[in-house]
Amino acid sequence: MKTLTCPHCHARVPHGATVCRGCKAELEYGTPAAAYLIPLIVACCVAWLVLYGMYHLLHIASHEVYGWVGWIVFLGVFICVTVRVNKSFADRVVYHRIYRTDNGNRRSHVRSR
Ligand SMILES: [Zn+2]
Repeated sequence: MKTLTCPHCHARVPHGATVCRGCKAELEYGTPAAAYLIPLIVACCVAWLVLYGMYHLLHIASHEVYGWVGWIVFLGVFICVTVRVNKSFADRVVYHRIYRTDNGNRRSHVRSR
């Protein structure tokens, strides 16, 4: 089983654990939610370009065709880009640790590996 080293306290943490045994830092794995905006934006742009090309270059005038093609292109691109994004974040682990300062304020400290 793969083990990780916590960047805050250097304790060994088994991969898959949600909390560090040494310092109680919270571990987060995989793709951050914001990264899913990338395939969404790319798919919108590509679908729009394809429909734009169909209208101006191929002169197709059927709205039914646009609906179908638009959705197929959008979903195809969205799935492909999502798979790529997930792959690039597959080994990502983020450690969130809450530090208490002297005046009692909590501030979150995030360190990536
Ligand atoms: Zn730790």
